[in-house]
Amino acid sequence: MRVPMIAGNWKMNTTVDDAVALVKAMLPGLDRVGGVDKLICPPFVSLAAAGDLLKGTSVKLGAQNVFYEAKGAYTGEVSPLMLAGMCEYVIVGHSERRQYFNETPEIVDKKVKAALAAGLKPVLCIGERLEENEAGITGEVLTRQLTASADQMYFKSGLVIAYEPVWAIGTGKSATPEQANATIGFIRKLVAHHLGADAAEGVRILYGGSVTADNIAGLMQQPEIDGALVGGASLKADDFVSITKQASEAGGAA
Ligand code: PEP
Repeated sequence: MRVPMIAGNWKMNTTVDDAVALVKAMLPGLDRVGGVDKLICPPFVSLAAAGDLLKGTSVKLGAQNVFYEAKGAYTGEVSPLMLAGMCEYVIVGHSERRQYFNETPEIVDKKVKAALAAGLKPVLCIGERLEENEAGITGEVLTRQLTASADQMYFKSGLVIAYEPVWAIGTGKSATPEQANATIGFIRKLVAHHLGADAAEGVRILYGGSVTADNIAGLMQQPEIDGALVGGASLKADDFVSITKQASEAGGAA
């Protein structure tokens, strides 16, 4: 039985003070929701403050990115060792990292490996761009992105996959529940092909792309969708709590 997950990616939003206020606003509501893993991913500079507030609660903390080297002359980067002990999860390979920071599948794979070696659980994001979707090559793109990171070890270590079609991120144009379900089913088959049925059955695959309190229920009714990675709506405390509650009602394991 896969426990659903609702993860909030705050992206480059919130000062430390804003982040503290946002955690305080959503924490009581989130903490009460059972049967779903709840994860928030604030900016690096707010991880410590958010972590202090989350101590002793059921809400988990993640970072939005990580570098693959442990230490050294890499000005401005944050290593897995710095994050370990500070947070449990880390988003890796978000499409904005691939698009604006030229992260290739090979770089993403190195990050996944380094994160796992440090004891972090990666949320590996994959997804096709609009032109790739329109050209009918979604399957090839996802295969390339996933195959670089297809390693049995990853799946034993709590890796989560997020399918995020780039055309749906921040656009208000979510994939339909049926589209998301079909593509996530395809990804699960890819995992089965590389790593066998057990890995495929066990891995959580989230959908991400314009998820809101209005569309989460329909998405969660789909059998392949194990939760959501939420961007914009995770910055609104009431909306994020509502998304999490609805996920619990529709697919919670409790
Ligand atoms: C994201 O950034 O991962 C995301 C899915 O954003 P949004 O929900 O705003 O589309």
